[in-house]
Amino acid sequence: MVLARSASLRSLLPLLATLPRRRPPVRLCASSPSPKHNLLGLSEPELTALVVDNYNQPKFRAKQLHEWMYEKGVTDFDAMANLPKNFRAQLSAEAACGTMEISHERVSGDGTRKRLWRCDDGALIESVLMPYNDGRRTACISSQVGCAMGCTFCATGQMGFGRDLSEGEIFEQAARFALELQAEGERLSNVVFMGMGEPFRNYDAVIGAARRIMGELGVGARHITISTVGIVPNIKRYADEERSGGQPLPELAISLHQSDDASRSAIMPVNRKHDIDELLEACAYYGSKTGRRISFEWALIAGQNDDVPTARRLGERLAAVRGLKCHVNLIPLNPTSGFDGAPTSLPQAAQFVDELARHKVPATVRVRRGIDIEAGCGQLAEAASKEVAAGRLEARRTRTKLPENLRVKGRRAVEGQT
Ligand code: SF4
Repeated sequence: MVLARSASLRSLLPLLATLPRRRPPVRLCASSPSPKHNLLGLSEPELTALVVDNYNQPKFRAKQLHEWMYEKGVTDFDAMANLPKNFRAQLSAEAACGTMEISHERVSGDGTRKRLWRCDDGALIESVLMPYNDGRRTACISSQVGCAMGCTFCATGQMGFGRDLSEGEIFEQAARFALELQAEGERLSNVVFMGMGEPFRNYDAVIGAARRIMGELGVGARHITISTVGIVPNIKRYADEERSGGQPLPELAISLHQSDDASRSAIMPVNRKHDIDELLEACAYYGSKTGRRISFEWALIAGQNDDVPTARRLGERLAAVRGLKCHVNLIPLNPTSGFDGAPTSLPQAAQFVDELARHKVPATVRVRRGIDIEAGCGQLAEAASKEVAAGRLEARRTRTKLPENLRVKGRRAVEGQT
């Protein structure tokens, strides 16, 4: 659903002030011409409260509405045949399934769908949907606008930090894909928090969204993965959370990418705060509390972290952590314009796997997806931002009648990215 941008949140305050007290937490789409209830922003109890209190409908109407959205993938209220006509008309006028506008979308030759969303405030974030031959449909979603962690090989890291996403914005990325798949007779089977941002720097919103993905979208905890670069206090908090909360939480993955501190700190500044020993100690704590396996993510960069001595050191360090159950996922680098690195060849990757196997550390080389559509984290947003910047530059130069050679330079910046 495409929503136009207009009213600011500030302009909605008088309207919010007029709402009766008993109404559920109202999540309004600030961007729509007249503010609407964002149904994707509501948990099931909140949706029920809205239907009963705001629309004076019986409770079972909320269940019907929920089924239309989450089980049938229908977001057109007119098509919800078992709802009364006047209720459908009210919903069409006052409610929406989602607040984010699709700004760009690219589909790869391998079926990977990369989407750039425009949030209410104009911020751009990315999600990717990856179809696999075995029937899995995996959504990779973002947790922040940009990222403050500064990993040198990552397009999002090169972009800097914008803001945290809300729980609703994180959930909506997965929900919109899920609803579209439902409408096509398919289902979203897996979700990975590996898009823009560091999930454990936006902990509460990420955990809240993950719980809703499990509850509302029916994706099991074992089919969701949260990936962190190593925010040690929150790895421990996460380990404790599952035990105290009782409900299973998603799988944990750690982006590692180097096996010695000097090399890791050079590409991942977080390592200066939490070095590899401290990180592995937190991983051991997680393993001891949950009994679960951890995945280590490793972007294979030709000539930088794909040699046998590096693999040996990694194997030794992981094997030395008592009781650690782990798996290493090796992913040949997705090149980005701001990082001087190339993906490792498959024979070199196979040597890396063999060396880890000597230390009894299981590893798999993952197939890169969506290479032809800049599916790596942050790449599409980076390209779109450059397009916008180049467009602004061109408009400014045209207005100020700057020489043609400078204008051409601005256009080339656009062509280079599209
Ligand atoms: S790899 Fe992840 S944590 Fe590092 S800069 Fe990119 S988005 Fe942030």
